[in-house]
Amino acid sequence: MADTDEPMVVDGGSGHACEWEGRWNHIKKFLERSGPFTHPDFEPSTEALSGIRNIHVVDMDTIDVSNLNRQFLFRPKDVGRPKADVAADFINSRIPGCCVVPHFKKIQDLDETFYRQFHIIVCGLDSVVARRWMNGMLLSLLVYEDGVLDPGSIIPLIDGGTEGFKGNARVIFPGMTACIDCTLELYPPQINFPMCTIASMPRLPEHCIEYVWMLLWPKESPFGAGVALDGDDPEHIQWVYQRSLERAAEFNITGVTYRLSQGVVKRIIPAVASTNAVIAGKLQNERFENCSACSQIPMDLHFAPSSKLQDVLDYLTTSASLQMKSPAITATVEGKNKTLYLQSVASIEQRTRPNLSKTLKELGLTGGQELAVADVTTPQTMLFRLCFTS
Ligand SMILES: [Zn+2]
Repeated sequence: MADTDEPMVVDGGSGHACEWEGRWNHIKKFLERSGPFTHPDFEPSTEALSGIRNIHVVDMDTIDVSNLNRQFLFRPKDVGRPKADVAADFINSRIPGCCVVPHFKKIQDLDETFYRQFHIIVCGLDSVVARRWMNGMLLSLLVYEDGVLDPGSIIPLIDGGTEGFKGNARVIFPGMTACIDCTLELYPPQINFPMCTIASMPRLPEHCIEYVWMLLWPKESPFGAGVALDGDDPEHIQWVYQRSLERAAEFNITGVTYRLSQGVVKRIIPAVASTNAVIAGKLQNERFENCSACSQIPMDLHFAPSSKLQDVLDYLTTSASLQMKSPAITATVEGKNKTLYLQSVASIEQRTRPNLSKTLKELGLTGGQELAVADVTTPQTMLFRLCFTS
């Protein structure tokens, strides 16, 4: 789904009433009067008002000048300040009775005691990984009694995103309706180009742009030594665009544009191509009954005893329904908890790397064995059951 840059907003329920005469006059005009273009069945009412007063906003970004055209709570004087702080100040001073608490943090820096306090969570995140993390967090808060979901433990999630003229929004009742991971396959796959293609055999406009920003930028330092490429700086993108055009001309490649250059540099996640059609058709997302995130069923992994740990790792990262990023795999072998592979800590990666070329049998794993897998796509460790095929 798409890049939004909008902070995530969370509702903490209603506070005390705060009324004065004529407070709603303008809003009533907007909500209660029908107009020349309204549907004949339209019945005006104030039901659209949410009445939400207590809001927590979490955002890790600071305000960039390029945000000002669309992020309307921010003014030129706010550039450089945390988005969460400025957004909270703006609402608090404009709407008496509303209390917004800012958190200048990553969503992953807050734990389940924080998220449990809310009635609803609204996400405007800019990556699939962050969406999956929040989805996993809300799933981890669900309470099942004898396999039956306690509806009181459900915190609805509203997820949305836009890019250009496209956008989408969906409501998720964790544990009840399709979750983010149920429909993971609808996201376009992340494209990473092999370095040899970028360096010597470009075939696509994207290859030329990758070449310029990954290899030429650090080599030529066009804006001074050590100046990092800023995807929101038009001069930087213009430089990348011009040099990419030159590279593309060399290889008779067409299609390099300014917009594409920025898209590649910023790794902008494109909108799901079918989103507009899906929304227009009011098609419901179907739950995936074996969804690894929300089904409560440990997923089976089918491998031969002679398969290598690398094969398991490849499956976890490339399977369309899992798409993990850097899974850490642990198992209990002969009564001991053993880390089979862990990528994120250099020393452990080095120590466990030899395991990747060992077979599952050599690692002491047995059929029916549970494998615990941790990944950035979920706050919880996921359990898999190893099923040996012969
Ligand atoms: Zn699911």
